Amino acid sequence: MVDSHNNNSPHQVVIIGGGFGGLYAAKALAKADVNVTLIDKRNFHLFQPLLYQVATGALSPADISSPLRAVLSKSKNTKVLLGEVSDIDSQGQKVMVGEDAIAYDTLIVATGAKHSYFGKDNWEEFAPGLKTVEDALAMRRRIFSAFEAAEKETDPEKRRAWLTFVIVGGGPTGVELAGAIAELANQTLKEDFRNIDTSEARILLLEGMDRILPPFAPELSQAAAISLSQLGVVVQTNTLVTNIENEVVTLKQGEGTREIASKTILWAAGVKASAMGKVLAERTGAECDRAGRVIVEPDLSIKGHSNIFVVGDLANFSHQNGKPLPGVAPVAKQEGEYVATTIQQRLKGNTLPPFNYIDRGSLAMIGQNSAVVDLGFIKLKGFFAWLFWLVIHIYFLIEFDNKLLVMIQWAWNYFTRNRGARLITGEASLGSVPIDNGSSNYPPVNIKQPLNA
Ligand SMILES: Cc1cc2nc3c(=O)[nH]c(=O)nc-3n(C[C@H](O)[C@H](O)[C@H](O)COP(=O)(O)OP(=O)(O)OC[C@H]3O[C@@H](n4cnc5c(N)ncnc54)[C@H](O)[C@@H]3O)c2cc1C
Repeated sequence: MVDSHNNNSPHQVVIIGGGFGGLYAAKALAKADVNVTLIDKRNFHLFQPLLYQVATGALSPADISSPLRAVLSKSKNTKVLLGEVSDIDSQGQKVMVGEDAIAYDTLIVATGAKHSYFGKDNWEEFAPGLKTVEDALAMRRRIFSAFEAAEKETDPEKRRAWLTFVIVGGGPTGVELAGAIAELANQTLKEDFRNIDTSEARILLLEGMDRILPPFAPELSQAAAISLSQLGVVVQTNTLVTNIENEVVTLKQGEGTREIASKTILWAAGVKASAMGKVLAERTGAECDRAGRVIVEPDLSIKGHSNIFVVGDLANFSHQNGKPLPGVAPVAKQEGEYVATTIQQRLKGNTLPPFNYIDRGSLAMIGQNSAVVDLGFIKLKGFFAWLFWLVIHIYFLIEFDNKLLVMIQWAWNYFTRNRGARLITGEASLGSVPIDNGSSNYPPVNIKQPLNA
């Protein structure tokens, strides 16, 4: 099929990706005099900031996902297509979805990022990352399977390995995962097992820099480290992971190295651009940075291709203070909305000033009644930060259809200290948990990459 377009029909905007960047661009174009086609390989928008709650059994996948068709059903100028874009023809102004060519006048590429293991891709098998619903369910399977295996294990050393959880990377995702696993071990599961005391679980959070949550103010990093240690998490900073093999993490701390036996190693340390960055580089000559992100102009277009915009995690926008904007949802949202306005203004013959990101602050949840919030002019920790975190996340979810569901779930968890979505699904039998297959024997490696780079 060729979805062609003639000069009399309205301006065709094609958006690749229905994440924060693409979806907010589509929403901002809802009333514009253009035709919009949003293409995504998934049929839902995923609220990634809450993936860790799925991974730790507090929420179910549907609580944090919204069908793209439903979100955009009132945007009558917008068509949603389910499919993976494999190529872009910038001369012919088409994108390829399988055999189908979709024509565009303006293209917005918002395909996001994926995990990065700093070139050690073999680590992924032993230390899965968190990016998709499937990743969250796989993590959930590993975490809850580890407690089940520990309950059956009679050898104390092996039991200890089952009850050791290592989280690599002390950014917000690592901190949130560590806090949630600690609450699971110390509260939620405490009464549920007969042979093990789940509160004996060791939860280690490893960070290459000298403090966790490096983007936050130092006093909030310190407050987060204290809250985590009160929950029983062992926070190890200035710690580089030099190797991960089946059930063993090797660490470098100062001049020394150390090995930790753990059956559950989780990766929260780095991301790189999605594959569309490489496609854009090849097809448009766009320049990419080391993480594969496309370097964009002050209006988020690609140099020499003013009708191709890149937004969100895939874009490297360094025009504000010389440093790339962070890969967070508000950046993607504001970029998507800016591009939508630019397209409309251009059609009227106007030019907009360059994109300018308004940073409203950072927040991270540590556990029940405990979070850190850095708004620049005000810094919060503890209960009020936790309340703020809750309100902000619900506010963001208001845009979609999940708000009420999530609120009820959270309230229930709060009062019962329960985590109802504790299912071990998929390839659930313990023997099939990939980390336990004992089959790998990778050569030693040595990298000196900060864990949160
Ligand atoms: C675990 C986790 C926790 C996070 N926590 C926070 C947080 O607390 N606060 C915060 O602000 N940010 C957080 N982030 C970051 C935030 O989620 C991202 O910055 C944001 O999602 C980026 O939006 P995006 O539109 O660029 O990409 P995404 O939201 O990743 O969307 C990309 C979309 O493109 C689609 N796609 C990809 N390739 C193709 C293709 N070839 N064809 C068709 N479709 C394609 C994907 O299916 C996806 O829907 C977190 C991220 C993760 C993974």
